[in-house]
Amino acid sequence: GNSPLYNYNPDDRELDEELRPQRLEDVIGQRQVVDRLKIVLEATKKRKDVLGHLLLDGPPGIGKTTLATVIPREMGVDLQMAAGPVLDAPKDLLPYLTNATEGSVLFIDEIHRLRPAVEEFLYPAMEDFRVDIALGEGLNARTINMPLKRFTVIGATTRAGMLTAPMRDRFVYREHLDFYEAEDLVEIVSRNARKLRTTITPEAASEVARRSQGTPRKANNILRRTRDFATLRHPQGEITTEIAAHALKILEIDGLGLEKQDRRYLQTVIDIFSGGPAGLNAIAHSMSIPPDTLEDDIEPFLLRAGLVQRTPRGRVITRNGYLHLGLKPGPELPP
Ligand code: ADP
Repeated sequence: GNSPLYNYNPDDRELDEELRPQRLEDVIGQRQVVDRLKIVLEATKKRKDVLGHLLLDGPPGIGKTTLATVIPREMGVDLQMAAGPVLDAPKDLLPYLTNATEGSVLFIDEIHRLRPAVEEFLYPAMEDFRVDIALGEGLNARTINMPLKRFTVIGATTRAGMLTAPMRDRFVYREHLDFYEAEDLVEIVSRNARKLRTTITPEAASEVARRSQGTPRKANNILRRTRDFATLRHPQGEITTEIAAHALKILEIDGLGLEKQDRRYLQTVIDIFSGGPAGLNAIAHSMSIPPDTLEDDIEPFLLRAGLVQRTPRGRVITRNGYLHLGLKPGPELPP
């Protein structure tokens, strides 16, 4: 489907689990967010209270699910995991709510994709720890009110802006996860190389980090692919810069970390829309990619790298965008 949760390789998901940090102290980077969360967790524990609902937003692969799994472990409470797009009706959400134990966490990925009826069903659950269940129809219709255990919703979204205001307001804590600094990614790559029982030179680790779009999931994927190349050379092969460079070339990941589809985006806007402004849907249509995938998976890094700009009239390729493709920029482009 269109959902970013499902549009990456199932192997990536396995790798996510294999390499996911288990404790807060293993979570690398995002220092301010982690420090703030530590205080919240400590204080909540001291009060013997239930953690307030927490919203995490940021691009895919940046650590939202990781934090959502680490937090309940730190608190010593249960965790249930659900995803917005697969909850079709309130009855799909109900079992999660009734199964929630005191103080437990219910993680809802892609919470901006909850259907309105499901979202409305969730409001009283989050606010007063109760659900209103409609029974019967017509004259016999009545509502029963069912109390729930006090629990915590951790919502994750790639689009905080798409959350409805009442939904957003029900979160006591909101944290934004941004792209990682290169040094944090180097640390993630080195640590995960050990977890995967392989060795990587410090130079190769920074090369992998530099080309992973500030995103741990991408760094992990590149690491695993480079490990394959190293193994082919030698059963206990170390990942050297030479091997990493070779692997990155075959994976068609360029010096900035752009993948084929990222370059195709730039090329499409240049070829078909003269560099823009072009609307998201028009670009998506030309590329035969769902608009959500473009907006969630491809655009955030291109914007951040300054290769694309979002203007009120649409997306525009910047001078640097042209230059990156080795093209001559037109005279009146944004820098
Ligand atoms: P999201 O839920 O934001 O899409 P995930 O939490 O699933 O992303 O992260 C993908 C993978 O990246 C994780 O399995 C983990 O291996 C790695 N990762 C993410 N954030 C961190 C971090 N802060 N420290 C170490 N590894 C991380």
